[in-house]
Amino acid sequence: MTGAAGFLGSHLCDRLLRDGHDVLGMDNLLTGSLANIAHLEGNSRFRFVRHDVTNYLEVSGPLEGVFHFASPASPVDYLALPIQTLKVGSLGTHKTLGLAKAKTARFLLASTSEVYGDPHVHPQPESYWGHVNPVGPRGVYDEAKRFAEAMTMAYHRHHGVDTRIVRIFNTYGPRMRARDGRVVSNFIVQALKGEPLTIYGDGSQTRSFCYVDDLIDGIVRLFERGGAEPVNIGNPDEFTVRQLAEHVLRLTGSGSSVVECDLPVDDPRQRRPDIGRARETLGWQPTVGLEEGLRRTIAYFKQVLAD
Ligand code: UDP
Repeated sequence: MTGAAGFLGSHLCDRLLRDGHDVLGMDNLLTGSLANIAHLEGNSRFRFVRHDVTNYLEVSGPLEGVFHFASPASPVDYLALPIQTLKVGSLGTHKTLGLAKAKTARFLLASTSEVYGDPHVHPQPESYWGHVNPVGPRGVYDEAKRFAEAMTMAYHRHHGVDTRIVRIFNTYGPRMRARDGRVVSNFIVQALKGEPLTIYGDGSQTRSFCYVDDLIDGIVRLFERGGAEPVNIGNPDEFTVRQLAEHVLRLTGSGSSVVECDLPVDDPRQRRPDIGRARETLGWQPTVGLEEGLRRTIAYFKQVLAD
């Protein structure tokens, strides 16, 4: 598992360990945190190696699967770390695919709804090729992941590696960093601290928010019984950013105000997954609604802010 100390990587480690697997986690801790895997210390089936996966990977013994989850993923992070983002999506994907090939292991790439860019098709099915600005600030993430998908398909077609590609839509839940810049964590932390909620633009842009447990379940199903074609995993319930702010204010009981800030360059106007393929091929659909997911995430951030 690369990105093992990250938000999604650490949840996936937990799930695979619970399912009875041994897990080797790698992370260079650029945006990940050891706190996310501290509870695994002393677990004899988990081993952590601090390593930058853009460099050669040396792993002894057999491997059943390689999960490539390393990458800055919050817009704030990948705008601050553009070269590292491009390198982990390109060189890191190459190295992890090489490892999967050498070990005859199944490979799963964590891709993203950002491959669709600022989409002109709504909701987004996997067959949509996207609308991406390669030279805009978000291009470093979008194009790295598009390259990673192309590289994964090349290893599948040319080398016969058994591969999976998950296109992850906005996901939230415990272990997001309080200051990682994403909208759910920003709003919850702002509401809990009594600070104004920062709506970028007029808040009419939309996103569809998936609770982390649902996402992890979809990824494990994809790994176990999916195919090489990309699969969207996300929650198709769509909300405007302003609606999200209202939910967070209500559920936290916060008296925070709301302020409008500049909209980031190339911020997608709308985003919602078409999850038909996940439903049909994996029998998967999300089960945790926004209200329940926000309650659990608010409880987590209350704890983090109290520590
Ligand atoms: N956003 C916002 N206020 C914030 C952070 C983000 O209004 O404090 C908006 C952002 O402009 C985008 C949406 O919320 O339209 C989702 O942003 P996020 O960074 O969570 O992820 P993205 O979907 O853009 O990758």
